[in-house]
Amino acid sequence: MYDFMSRLGLQAVNSGAATTSGFLPTHGPELDVHSPIDGALLAKVKLAGLDEYEKVVGEAARVFADWRMVPAPKRGEILREVGDALRAHKEDLGRLISVEVGKILSEGMGEVQESVDMADLCVGMSRQLSGLTMHSERPGHRMYEQWHPLGVVGVITAFNFPNAVWAWNAMVAAAAGDTVVWKPSLKAPLTAIATHRICDEVFQKYGWGGVFGLVIGEDKVVGEAMIRDRRVPLVSATGSTHMGRHVGQVVAERLGRSLLELGGNNAIIIHEDANLDLALRAIVFASCGTSGQRCTTNRRLFVHESIADKLVPRIQRAYESIPIGNPLEAGTLMGPLIDEQAVQQYLHACDQIRAQGGEILTGGERVEGPGFYVRPTLVRARADMEICKEETFAPILYVFTYKDLSEAIRLQNDVPQGLSSAIFTDSFRASERFLSHAGSDCGIANVNIGTSGAEIGGAFGGEKETGGGREAGSDSWKAYMRRQTCTMNWSDELPLAQGVRFDL
Ligand code: NAD
Repeated sequence: MYDFMSRLGLQAVNSGAATTSGFLPTHGPELDVHSPIDGALLAKVKLAGLDEYEKVVGEAARVFADWRMVPAPKRGEILREVGDALRAHKEDLGRLISVEVGKILSEGMGEVQESVDMADLCVGMSRQLSGLTMHSERPGHRMYEQWHPLGVVGVITAFNFPNAVWAWNAMVAAAAGDTVVWKPSLKAPLTAIATHRICDEVFQKYGWGGVFGLVIGEDKVVGEAMIRDRRVPLVSATGSTHMGRHVGQVVAERLGRSLLELGGNNAIIIHEDANLDLALRAIVFASCGTSGQRCTTNRRLFVHESIADKLVPRIQRAYESIPIGNPLEAGTLMGPLIDEQAVQQYLHACDQIRAQGGEILTGGERVEGPGFYVRPTLVRARADMEICKEETFAPILYVFTYKDLSEAIRLQNDVPQGLSSAIFTDSFRASERFLSHAGSDCGIANVNIGTSGAEIGGAFGGEKETGGGREAGSDSWKAYMRRQTCTMNWSDELPLAQGVRFDL
């Protein structure tokens, strides 16, 4: 075990469930947690079973009854300290993320910074949970809407952002007056335990243990229990489209709400007048950053045919010189994939590319040795290749050439997913066309910026098979609250709306 892991309170064997009274003894099976860097055993986690799930959700429901009555700005003050606590642990937590999921250290730290930013955002948000007022059609009447806390929010997170995805949800939910039960990925339980410990300590200090609960267990046990649980009015689930389709259906069956943040198949269009130096840096970061394991990773590139011969060889050279290796070492830009299954999926996709007529310009193979390292892969693709419509969670970039912008936008939109998109151009007309109603169909559309690395101030999420949810900033908080429309009659009459008469 690394020193920073014990500083974060991690032990050789950790509990996978936490309530108001801290971490519980758990009775489920024991999970070995390995680092994708070298396969080393990091620690073990005793998984939660249904008993522990009941305790965590039961407490979250009980605590909600009181937490919702705390004035929102007071809730925000606690979140300010949660942000400070995360700041204080940024270095250790960032390292843990690198060791547990393999992203480079600056990305591990960046992820914790994102959670700090979310806490800061929610301090202000707690003073701005405002509704509209309307003019009533009836004299002596006033109409307005207000937003109430919703209840227990179940947060299911993907492995690739083991800290920030929770913060996008949990900070907003806590500001909104909800309590949160977190079910993290079994591929990143240690980051969840450490994050929970840091944040819960602040809540405990103010007597609000139980606002944040944690339950780490198998999908078929605690995952299924959560999505079927009527005490959980909102399930926010981040992960693959396959998972989201199931979760969405089960939650809809009980007429609960789900907020789905699912897979992407993002693209960048390079217009003929693009600044290629800028574009090159953005393409390489968006396609190879986090070893292609971001939901916003750039997976498709549409290059105007007049500049393809200039740009594609430059991308290829950049790909061939990317330092791959231990993500904790300075200079490394690409760490490992999460596990052997991810490597096998990458290799399978490379086989499909060849079988479907794609030309692999560079990459297409694993890096031999311990750990789960692969080479960034650049493919000259054909429009009819089915594999390009799927999200392979690995650093594979499909390059297409195009003649006119409408064709590029049409091809960009012609996939089931709709998360992130970008265009590189100095043309006002081209960028406005890309951003118009007939332009990109994605939840995120950027100009002269890559597809990944969104800021928390905006609402984050995507359309179509990406699930339609929105998280983080803007008015995303509305998903975590219930809206109530109120009409007040301060007159001595009882006029009915729409002129209806019902005189006794
Ligand atoms: P995954 O779908 O395998 O797992 C995601 C989460 O769902 C995990 O916590 C998993 O345990 C849980 N889960 C699976 N089945 C469940 C069930 N029956 N009931 C309850 N929970 C269940 O995804 P992953 O491999 O961890 O992450 C990669 C995927 O996540 C990619 O598709 C990526 O694009 C997507 N992702 C999307 C966003 C976004 O904001 N749109 C962000 C990050 C990752």
